[in-house]
Amino acid sequence: MTHQLDGKAAFITGGASGIGEATARRFAQEGARVVIADVADDLGRRVCEEIKQGGAKALYVHCDISTPDSVRQALEQAVERWGRLDIVFANAGIAGVWAPLEDMRPDEWEKTLRTNLEGAFLTLHFAIPYLKSAGGSIIVTSSVSGNRTFGQPGAAAYSTSKAGLVALTKMAALELARYGIRVNAVCPGGVPTRITDALESRNTEEIPLHVEMPEGNPALHQGVGQPEDIADVCLFLASDQSRHVSGVEIYVDGGASLLI
Ligand code: NAD
Repeated sequence: MTHQLDGKAAFITGGASGIGEATARRFAQEGARVVIADVADDLGRRVCEEIKQGGAKALYVHCDISTPDSVRQALEQAVERWGRLDIVFANAGIAGVWAPLEDMRPDEWEKTLRTNLEGAFLTLHFAIPYLKSAGGSIIVTSSVSGNRTFGQPGAAAYSTSKAGLVALTKMAALELARYGIRVNAVCPGGVPTRITDALESRNTEEIPLHVEMPEGNPALHQGVGQPEDIADVCLFLASDQSRHVSGVEIYVDGGASLLI
């Protein structure tokens, strides 16, 4: 039986949890050799072991996407292990601090942008040399936030990082087309994951924004998705099914962001 990602090797940042974890499992089911790159070592190793117990090939590497040397080394380890690189999922991210702009400290702003936006840049920067020879697929996790929705009080740093990721995706798609590398973004709506565990919210009630869904929410599943809903779209973007797709952002939110 053939699978969609047979013979491919995939590098997944933030693969220890949530959307990255579901995508690592999905890619592995479809025959890919996966590398889970994360800072959550215990979680990442556990996911990796479970994937291996299911009969697929997986490797865990410690990787802090906000540190150039860490990303470079993680990619080196990945290519050393599987001998190739075909799919890069630049997915790791943090919610960061949500606060009114005048309350948000510059170091808080900087941490969110450095992790979410520069982290994706570093992932692409160090992955491109490995992808150039045979082409491949890069998928970036952006969000509805910063692209279609702007109604989360205090989320300016997060939303700005996610808007920047769509611009990065489009610039990279054009620049890398000559190597046969496709670059696309996935923009999830609300998905229950661990991302909100470390969210620090401060004085956001001072921002007079109150968004209410109208009666009879028209979005699919009330707009709430599961990590697996995002993983299936990532599988499409990683596979040859999307061979003529590059430079797009795909909203995966059941249609909710059309309304709010
Ligand atoms: P999650 O917290 O479950 O997973 C994020 C993973 O990224 C974690 O395993 C975490 O350890 C890892 N990570 C954080 N900082 C890192 C760093 N510096 N280096 C390496 N790994 C790091 O959250 P999730 O919801 O699965 O988030 C995945 C992506 O999806 C993020 O980019 C997030 O912004 C985006 N997103 C999430 C939602 C949502 O509602 N959950 C919506 C839109 C976009």
